[in-house]
Amino acid sequence: MDTLKTFNNASKIIIKIGSSLLVNSDTGLLNDGWLRSLAEDIDMLKQQGKQIIVVSSGSIALGRRILQFPIGKLSLEQTQASAACGQIKLARMYEEVMHPFGHTTAQILLTLDDNDNRKRFLNARATLSTLLTMGVIPIINENDTIATDEIRYGDNDRLAALVSVMVGADILILFSDVDGLYDKDPRKFPKAIRLETVAEIDSKIFAMAGSTGTNLARGGMKTKLIAARTSMKAGCAMVISEGYKRNPVQNLLNGGKCTWFKPEHDPQVARKHWIASMKPKGSVYIDDGAVQALQNGKSLLPAGVHKVAGEFGRGDAVEIISCKGKRLGAGLIRYTKSESELIMGHKSTEIEKILGFSGRAALIHRDDLSW
Ligand code: GLU
Repeated sequence: MDTLKTFNNASKIIIKIGSSLLVNSDTGLLNDGWLRSLAEDIDMLKQQGKQIIVVSSGSIALGRRILQFPIGKLSLEQTQASAACGQIKLARMYEEVMHPFGHTTAQILLTLDDNDNRKRFLNARATLSTLLTMGVIPIINENDTIATDEIRYGDNDRLAALVSVMVGADILILFSDVDGLYDKDPRKFPKAIRLETVAEIDSKIFAMAGSTGTNLARGGMKTKLIAARTSMKAGCAMVISEGYKRNPVQNLLNGGKCTWFKPEHDPQVARKHWIASMKPKGSVYIDDGAVQALQNGKSLLPAGVHKVAGEFGRGDAVEIISCKGKRLGAGLIRYTKSESELIMGHKSTEIEKILGFSGRAALIHRDDLSW
């Protein structure tokens, strides 16, 4: 894949930073110079009008030093305590390095549950989308305090991939201490060959991944491949590149070592497939005016709906049906069935009066339609 072309065409980019880049594994101290060089790169991308999300590890590595835990494996409770102390520092560091460039940062902590639970997923997505539209740089990490062994992502590579699905990102960059996927473990086989582009993650590709996690990061090559599979399906190109270099984005753009994972479709098409593949929990019947609006790429407003059926909650998939009973498509609905019944046929400006809270104007947002 052509790195420059892919970047030129991208508007939403996720940069995932591994702990081993931010924190020196011998001293536990912050790699300050490296972080400042990353900030320069983020500013460069922002100047080009791109929206940037950072998914950063490092809270545990920073926090364990603050709490002076000895080197070695920590219990789950100690890990969570470290993350709680380290996360404040991590967020502050990003704020400090981005501030001189005039950029605002925001902290978002997610858990696996946010992705499974469609209502929380939609809330997280709406918040991210508002922040991005306002030019803010969200800094995301796993909410380690409430994660347990069973529900934790296991590593931020997968978290970053799930965020790429959530926001419909164009590129996911994984920066860590590896520079790409090799046909054999490059530490054991000096003649190992780095793959330039991977178009499909099959068993042969999986077999190439050793377990390359360092003592600070849990993610190895296997989790990077799982992340790649998720983002490729979501229409997002993923790249593993030499994160340990100063100005890692510029290094990548200048021909730095990397492996690209090619997306299956563009993000919009992938999203439509994803929505279409969901089992609908109900139906909304819409009038001809609404059909016209949807055909023109607009969202579905409550005013255009005259009947709803089935049992659905916020974020569930519903079928969209015309007056004549024809199935037109599907979408993720933003209100429960009882709320939808109350607001259907009404103007969006009346929602607050009817429901007692100011909800979203659209019943189904155009980004959540598979038409
Ligand atoms: N959430 C963890 C942290 O901030 C990192 C998980 C990972 O490295 O994948 O330390």
